[in-house]
Amino acid sequence: MVQRAILNYDENTRQILERQGYHFVGAHSHSAVKTCLWLRKSLRGEGNCYKGKFYGIHAHRCLQMTPSVFCNQRCVHCWRPLEAFNIDTKRQNVIWDSPEEIAEACITEQRRLVSGFKGSIKTNIRAFEEANQPKHVAISLIGEPTLYPYLAELIEAFHARDMTTFVVSNGTNPEMIREINPTQLYISLNAPEESIYRCVAHANYWDEIIESLEVLSGKNCRTVIRITCIEGLNMENPAGYADLLSRAKPDFIEVKAYMHIGYSRMRLPRTAMPAISRVRAFAADIADHLQGYRIVDESVPSRVVLIASRTSSIHIM
Ligand code: SF4
Repeated sequence: MVQRAILNYDENTRQILERQGYHFVGAHSHSAVKTCLWLRKSLRGEGNCYKGKFYGIHAHRCLQMTPSVFCNQRCVHCWRPLEAFNIDTKRQNVIWDSPEEIAEACITEQRRLVSGFKGSIKTNIRAFEEANQPKHVAISLIGEPTLYPYLAELIEAFHARDMTTFVVSNGTNPEMIREINPTQLYISLNAPEESIYRCVAHANYWDEIIESLEVLSGKNCRTVIRITCIEGLNMENPAGYADLLSRAKPDFIEVKAYMHIGYSRMRLPRTAMPAISRVRAFAADIADHLQGYRIVDESVPSRVVLIASRTSSIHIM
């Protein structure tokens, strides 16, 4: 399918990511799957991730993947090694695997990864059997999924397998935001104004992000804005956030602490990770500037506070 390839990473970088638990799938190494800590906890009956608390997702049935390990931003808080995976897909040719190929490969790889938990006496047998039939796909692992040109078809391929989909986008590609229809669509909004955006993302897509926020307001799926709070960088101007959120009219707003993990530790100090009390206070500031929204929940381990529109209901997956 499609054009010839110049992939902007080398074997060494690939190996670094593989050591971090990323499993590349497909023939052309632009898609990956990774199991998370919460999947293991859920298999053992030791807890569930905040998406379970907020939206009814069972972590042991959730497949985390990306169809594009590449990204067009260079966010300071990103877990990825930024230097290796930045790409301009308009200028660099990439061979893209087909949506069917990626969907099948992801499910096969997830089952293989889950099979590793079978031998543990801590694994709940019923949860293990359920985990072999993943039900949710979080298209959000690393990179920017809207750079994959067949994202709409990939989402359909998962839906055809009776799975729900979460897409998390950085909002830089409003055309693709228009096109796709996942079960739940997130846009990350990490600045209340352009000058702060440039400091956080080191990119030049502010106008596109504003357009994506406006597109989001007209989507029929469940919509979420995620704000990643970085102490000393973007936890200011709650009125500015509220103004942008009013344009997007999301069903939910997740105000979440930056987590000091992965490659971000080379760019930010540990003190950039705000305590839940700071996140709570900032979420309250934002909610105070918004009409028709209220704080409905929080997850202390994940340091995230959920704001919902008064017309939204939770736990519906
Ligand atoms: S948009 Fe996401 S994947 Fe891209 S650099 Fe920012 S945090 Fe990383």
